[in-house]
Amino acid sequence: MLSELNLSVNQHPDSCPALVLNADFRPLSYYPLSLWSWQDAIKAVFLDRVNIVSSYDKAVHSPSFEIKLPSIVCLKNYVKPPLWPAFTRFNLFLRDRFSCQYCGVSSDLTFDHLLPRSKGGQTTWENVVTACSKCNLRKSNHLYQEANMKPSQWPYKPNVHELHKNGRLFPPNFLHDGWMDYLYWDSELEA
Ligand SMILES: [Zn+2]
Repeated sequence: MLSELNLSVNQHPDSCPALVLNADFRPLSYYPLSLWSWQDAIKAVFLDRVNIVSSYDKAVHSPSFEIKLPSIVCLKNYVKPPLWPAFTRFNLFLRDRFSCQYCGVSSDLTFDHLLPRSKGGQTTWENVVTACSKCNLRKSNHLYQEANMKPSQWPYKPNVHELHKNGRLFPPNFLHDGWMDYLYWDSELEA
């Protein structure tokens, strides 16, 4: 089916991802934001797995039909979201609000093992903190007590709600206008 689709003239759909909502109309995931390529979105429409909530003006067509590219789709069946976010670079920075946990700056960020790896420290939520390169270098292989560098917040494993709370402070750089209602809908209710 998809292979029959030809792009309309002058309409390049690569930049047209679809925001994917769960059956409760919340994004399927926030970090990373649940986005599908237009191909996956249309495929899901044909497989009857999603409803189209809204569409771009751009369309793809075959000899027999035309379909506008979905900008927002909604799953027909509710998927229980995971409570625990993935241990990723972005999520760790987000937990620490994109600031060095030793000096507070928000530039030149990297990671620091609270208990140094050389002393058996693990790369886990509970032992890694956001740090600027300068502090990272200064602390080096020392214990934080030796270096007299106590993190402003003790590292912990956040749940998705905690990350979501911080995420409101750092909206993604690019958001399609039509997505805003769904991204901030539940946030505003909590406020
Ligand atoms: Zn620092």
